[in-house]
Amino acid sequence: MTRLSRRNTLKLLLSGTTAIVAGAALTPRQLLADTLSPDTNSALIVIDVQNCFVPGGTLPVADGKAVVPVINHLAPAFDNIVITQDWHTPEHASFASSYDTKKPFETTELDYGTQVLWPDHCVQGTDDAALVDELDLPTAELIVRKGYHQHIDSYSAFFEADRKTPTGLQGYLKERGITSVYLAGLATDFCVAWTAIDAAESGFTVYVIEDACRGIDLNGSLAKAWDAMTKAGVIRIQSSSITA
Ligand SMILES: [Zn+2]
Repeated sequence: MTRLSRRNTLKLLLSGTTAIVAGAALTPRQLLADTLSPDTNSALIVIDVQNCFVPGGTLPVADGKAVVPVINHLAPAFDNIVITQDWHTPEHASFASSYDTKKPFETTELDYGTQVLWPDHCVQGTDDAALVDELDLPTAELIVRKGYHQHIDSYSAFFEADRKTPTGLQGYLKERGITSVYLAGLATDFCVAWTAIDAAESGFTVYVIEDACRGIDLNGSLAKAWDAMTKAGVIRIQSSSITA
């Protein structure tokens, strides 16, 4: 008898395919009943839920604050929680203001390739870079800061934008025996997506909790990000699939 693994079931769910399980056809709606219970080898990674990325901040993601209650609700289901913070130096290479002729959301060429230029955001030690007050994660074990190299941006929580400078997160998770990561936070199409793809390429089973994320969607970047994540083997789920 062929038995679908949870992972394959979810992939089928994503593709909208009707699955055959033990001879019975299941529709995607029926497959939705499947749930995930994070174990001691799972970690929730909460990405960049900082003042800068919610309305009122310097680089706000539309509806960004809506992820906070979803993440707070999910947290008790996880034994392991890691938080990331974008943590830039002043006049960082990713800021449009660092160039005489550039405006935010234009691009420039850096040593490692094309870089989108952002408004100044998440400068180290500022209130703008602080975690959103309402985020309630007292059991979080680690805060990873990224983007602090003056000349390199860092969307991913694993590798900076030159694709070779590690943040140390992979080593931390592997030393702790973590094999599955669940991603939530901001923004879906940049820091969440890059983190998800790097996690998959680093050998983790990766779930992105869609309703616990919000995107920027710059020139179609959100659809492109989901496409790239799916190709990398990332599993797209909703928070309602997770039980303690
Ligand atoms: Zn940044």
